[in-house]
Amino acid sequence: MLLVEVGGCVVEVEVRRSSRVQGSRVVVRPGRPPELVVRPRAGEDEIRAALEEHLPWLGRQLARTPVPRLGLDRLHLTEAQGRREARARVSLIAQSEAVALDVSYKRIALRDQRSRWGSCSTSGTLSFNWRLVLAPHDVLDYVVVHEVCHLVEHNHGRRFWRLVERRRPGYREQKSWLDAYGWEILAYRPPGEAAA
Ligand SMILES: [Zn+2]
Repeated sequence: MLLVEVGGCVVEVEVRRSSRVQGSRVVVRPGRPPELVVRPRAGEDEIRAALEEHLPWLGRQLARTPVPRLGLDRLHLTEAQGRREARARVSLIAQSEAVALDVSYKRIALRDQRSRWGSCSTSGTLSFNWRLVLAPHDVLDYVVVHEVCHLVEHNHGRRFWRLVERRRPGYREQKSWLDAYGWEILAYRPPGEAAA
């Protein structure tokens, strides 16, 4: 781990050695410390020089990379609590939406997923990420409506999006909320059940 100053902030940079790089490169991913990848035999001086070389680029990347803004690290919601709450809220919305669209589903499953918000199986199971409970209610609402709409249109074609828009005219706002903040929710790690 190296400490560097970028744009007035001290940033921790992780150093990783890889035989797949010739010189060096920097990898920036939301929610993780930036990574400097160097060749396996790079010495201390070479690593410092490489970091120096990448600093301007790193500064520009970090200025654009989202930092956690939701304050979820202060939350003490356990997974069991989250699932209960999510099930209650998801079920209410799914029921009324299914009635409105005149469709039915078999059951609702809450899942612990690292990359998806919801899915709709051909057997009629609607699955949702329990972490949606950490999102604003209208975002959770949009995801549920999206999946119920899949009971009518099993794809992401134009007819599907038209249906979503008919049911939730402002859905693009919720969709972009997920793009901007979703990673924070996916990164949430609940405290152990013992702490509940
Ligand atoms: Zn979909």
